[in-house]
Amino acid sequence: MKFIPDSSVVSDVIPSANYGDRRGERAPDMIVLHYTGMSDAEVAIRRLTNAGTEVSAHYIVREDGRIIQCVPESLRAWHAGAATWGADTDVNSCSIGIEIVNGGHDYGLPPYPLRQIAAVIALCKGIMIRRNIVRERVLGHSDVAPGRKQDPGEKFPWQLLADSGVGLYVLPAKIVPGPTLQIGETGADVLALQEALAGYGYSVTASGQYDSTTRDVVAAFQRHFRPARVDGIADPSTLTTLRDLLRARGANGART
Ligand SMILES: [Zn+2]
Repeated sequence: MKFIPDSSVVSDVIPSANYGDRRGERAPDMIVLHYTGMSDAEVAIRRLTNAGTEVSAHYIVREDGRIIQCVPESLRAWHAGAATWGADTDVNSCSIGIEIVNGGHDYGLPPYPLRQIAAVIALCKGIMIRRNIVRERVLGHSDVAPGRKQDPGEKFPWQLLADSGVGLYVLPAKIVPGPTLQIGETGADVLALQEALAGYGYSVTASGQYDSTTRDVVAAFQRHFRPARVDGIADPSTLTTLRDLLRARGANGART
């Protein structure tokens, strides 16, 4: 299946064998960012394109910024797996998946070269403009699959992307001593935290019980928005950052 790239910043098309039809009528309105988490680019490209692996992505961004398209945007790539955001439980059907070549946690969290990040920004910008995607719906795999996934990881420069209008981000609040919420606790404060996280889109039930899902979702939130400490404990800095983020979303008028 040879095809014409959807984006003008694509340098190569390497068709993947792994894709299907998008389900439902809605056009994709979300971008999910990943790291490849493999030893090198060639291994990752083979895995994302060869038949039988059951995984793929629309785009792969190499370390030097070259961009490969593997699946046309009109089709459903298999990048997110079991994932949920807000009311969306079939993330693959409503999203564009971008794999960023990076060894990830298994390879010591190498930094993302600026040249690669600039390419990610250019690619995302184009998709957002062509598809009218709001900035808050540019997410990490860990946001839509907390507890199961950690990519693109706490070293991913979300701030740089946000400076270009890609993704929503607020400066994380300083880490200071103070009361925390953590696993095993119950009550109105836990309930309010869960409601705030679920209100943003994270998949957590507002039960008032700080269970393991709540811990995983707090860790996912931290990995994206307060990366200095990712421990699943809702400290004052985490709570303030979440409140600021919800306010920024309101001010941005991005809620759809
Ligand atoms: Zn991923």
